[in-house]
Amino acid sequence: MILDIKKVVKEYKLSRHNKFKALNGIDLTFESGQLVSIIGESGSGKSTLMNVIGGLDNDYQGDILLDGNSVHNLKEKDLDNYRKNKIGFVFQSFNLIPHLQVLDNITVAMTLSNVKKSDRIKRAKKILKDVGLTDQMYKKPNQLSGGQKQRVAIARALINDPDIILADEPTGSLDSETSDQILVLIKKIAAKGKLVIIVTHSEKVASHSDRVITIADGLIIKDVMKEENKKIIIGEEKVDNGKQNLSFFDAIGMALKNMKEKLARNLLVAIGASIGITSVIIMLSIGNGVGKYITDTMNEFVNPMVIEVHQLAVEENTNGQPRDIMATEAKPFEKENIEELSAIKGVEKVELAYSKFSFRDNILKIGEEEVPFQNLSTISSNITSENINEGKLPVAGEIMVSANLIENFESSPVGQTIELEFMIGATKFVESFIVSGIYGEISESGMNNFTSVFFNYADLENLAKDKDVTIKPNTVYLVTDDQDNVEAIKEKVLALGYTGSMEELLLGMFKEMLDVITYILAAIAAISLVVSAIMILVVMYISVVERTREIGVLKAIGARRKDIKRIFVAESFLIGLVSGLFGLLVAVLLMYAINGITNSMYGVDLVLISSMFAVFGVLVSIGISILAGLAPASKAAKLDPVESLRRE
Ligand code: ADP
Ligand code: MG
Repeated sequence: MILDIKKVVKEYKLSRHNKFKALNGIDLTFESGQLVSIIGESGSGKSTLMNVIGGLDNDYQGDILLDGNSVHNLKEKDLDNYRKNKIGFVFQSFNLIPHLQVLDNITVAMTLSNVKKSDRIKRAKKILKDVGLTDQMYKKPNQLSGGQKQRVAIARALINDPDIILADEPTGSLDSETSDQILVLIKKIAAKGKLVIIVTHSEKVASHSDRVITIADGLIIKDVMKEENKKIIIGEEKVDNGKQNLSFFDAIGMALKNMKEKLARNLLVAIGASIGITSVIIMLSIGNGVGKYITDTMNEFVNPMVIEVHQLAVEENTNGQPRDIMATEAKPFEKENIEELSAIKGVEKVELAYSKFSFRDNILKIGEEEVPFQNLSTISSNITSENINEGKLPVAGEIMVSANLIENFESSPVGQTIELEFMIGATKFVESFIVSGIYGEISESGMNNFTSVFFNYADLENLAKDKDVTIKPNTVYLVTDDQDNVEAIKEKVLALGYTGSMEELLLGMFKEMLDVITYILAAIAAISLVVSAIMILVVMYISVVERTREIGVLKAIGARRKDIKRIFVAESFLIGLVSGLFGLLVAVLLMYAINGITNSMYGVDLVLISSMFAVFGVLVSIGISILAGLAPASKAAKLDPVESLRRE
């Protein structure tokens, strides 16, 4: 291996017009197996040169050739690979990642290459043995002495088996005894055929080198080879560096280790962020619960397998008079209508019915009293005996009265004969019936609070025939035998231009309103998600600032921008996941608590969390968190490695 430095000039931009030349045209050639010392006054440009050689700083003039190939012109991705596979950095201040164990500090470079975990550990253990740290591998950096830390750093530099080791004052922070140990180690590395370049102030280190280069004001002023130090090179087997990049799984692993370090902070943020998720889930679930309660209540009164159909009311009454707002007869069904409806798929039977809604014409004569009622209907199979409160369904000559009419009777009307008065068109009917039963809940208020009387369609037909009145059905009941068909039939009915029952129309409108209210409430709750996002953003920014040096180290050992980004995005993913799950857990607990109360008070489950809301909540939480983490993550990815490493 030959490393050629060709006319390298490095200028630092101080301001728009001021530049400082730190390297003034450096020409050097290095070969494998050399141990080279670079000495020089502080500020002479040694670190600058190391950063340029190591590919940490690619902003210079001139070129660096590795075996004839330009490093300066490498694409970003290839420069990352150059740092990862060709260069091993050792710093004066060790630059170990504080929250990782020795073993993980060493394997990080391999993790970035997606080397298999078992291979990583095998190789790391071998190198730890070489540097004499086998006993220390599960310690964290702050549990080690300075010399041990530097040996970890050397092991880390060696792990990807680079051709070149760059050590910038590696013994600068160590006492002389530990310095000697490090020197021995470094000499051993050079002896194995690597090019080792050390920046040093130590006479002793320099005297053990094969070559000593002196640099002053960015220029080489002396370059001395010492033949007697030349070593026999022992060739070593090349290791296989993974070609791939940091896997998402490993990124999560790294993020987890870091987050454990700041566990309390991260948990607090996740819990804070979960409040928004909880509120959104609860709002949606209350809407869901109320909607289901209404539907259930509805189905209690009528048979859900029977679909009521009307035609939109005509603007004028059948007799040509302007529409009478006191009494409404819906538009009658003709033969074609009936045929069309019975042809709908899933309809087993069509029942004809008649109903008249009036505030004036429908009268019950109870004793001397005339009691008006609103709804006169023929009975059909949408009312089953389950809906009967007392007595039974009416047969020929019988009527059934709704529960809210019975206060007009002195005793139970069941079995009594009473007179019923009503109008069909312009014809008045007065007939006697026996009361067969009471429909609906007596205490019920709410949905079904029209006063109603029911009797049989056949009775109505017979009565009409006696008076020469033709009667046409104005309500049709479609009966199906499969609950699953109901929705499709209802849709088809509407598509054909008919309407459903009055209650259903109201229910539909009410549910639409309920949906709007639910979404508005959920949106208000979602405002707290913005707060969560900002909170996560701030915490991630703080994390980036705290870990600037670590990012520099990761870049020095070959992390790509993408890898850095991935590590931080993985962190925000984890925060989002934890906050989403926590938010869901709280929502579920709240559901039990609230339902416990509403159940004991009203017999109703108010909150109904569906699995869709649960998944939605967690996904939204993860999404928001990742979104909030993106900006800090790209800030981290864009950090300049040289500057990050200089950061205290
Ligand atoms: P040393 O030989 O002590 O390692 P350096 O290579 O760090 O010296 O620095 C060489 C010269 O370049 C010094 O005068 C230093 O002030 C200057 N320098 C280093 N980094 C920067 C920078 N980022 N911006 C401006 N000047 C710099
Ligand atoms: Mg320096």
